[in-house]
Amino acid sequence: MEGLLTFLGTGTSMGVPTLTCECAVCTSADSRDQRLRPSVLVKWKAASHESNRERTVIIDTGPDFRQQALRARLSHVDAVLYTHAHADHILGLDDLRPLTFASFRTGGFVPLYAASQTAEVLERIFDYHFSSGSTYPTRARVRLEPLADRMRVHEAEFTCVPVKHGEMDIAGFRFGDTAYLTDVSEIPESSFPLLEVLNTLVLPALRHHPHPSHATVRQAVEWAERIGARQTWLTHIAHELGHEVTNRMLPPGVALAYDGLEVAVNL
Ligand SMILES: [Zn+2]
Ligand SMILES: [Zn+2]
Repeated sequence: MEGLLTFLGTGTSMGVPTLTCECAVCTSADSRDQRLRPSVLVKWKAASHESNRERTVIIDTGPDFRQQALRARLSHVDAVLYTHAHADHILGLDDLRPLTFASFRTGGFVPLYAASQTAEVLERIFDYHFSSGSTYPTRARVRLEPLADRMRVHEAEFTCVPVKHGEMDIAGFRFGDTAYLTDVSEIPESSFPLLEVLNTLVLPALRHHPHPSHATVRQAVEWAERIGARQTWLTHIAHELGHEVTNRMLPPGVALAYDGLEVAVNL
């Protein structure tokens, strides 16, 4: 089944430009150097005869989600998958509200797939959506669903790919011939078999200088070479990496992604 992967944001937690910074990347005129917080949209057309409706799945809703949804002209959402509960991946949950009103009318509550430790944070921060006694009239029409090894969203299957983010165990996702991993400092050996025979692989690459919970460009390139997807796109990029300059030093088949990039995928 044909689908489309759209990069809604490719920046690190602070976004690029980074507040107060006047470095060459933060002041660059190249629009690919402007990066919102990390998120992707996966969409496909339902093949069934009764509905020609477009399906949309979001991975992470960070603080820029509203702006990203406007840019992508999102009109509804079928599911959200959460990688982990850091602010740059969850704080836009509140902006799901109008999208879930639209989805609720036809499909009921929108499932939010989250590991138990992620769900706990979501329930705490957004208690006015989730607490059973909430009477807040415009709360999001969502329901938390546990993260499973495999999750079906209508016609598509999403597989959980466990990875390490510093001390945290977080989730990456595989769907069809594509995998999306962000905020990774280590890929456990047991997760490599889940990443075989990929056309498109998304990996994080923060910068060149090491960081305790994020991969460097060099580490990402090593993983890209080992996994051997036809094309690897790098995301969760800090302002140390200029788009053009960095791409020139990357090997064939590996490149920095940028906000708005669309990639055809097979689900
Ligand atoms: Zn992050
Ligand atoms: Zn994180």
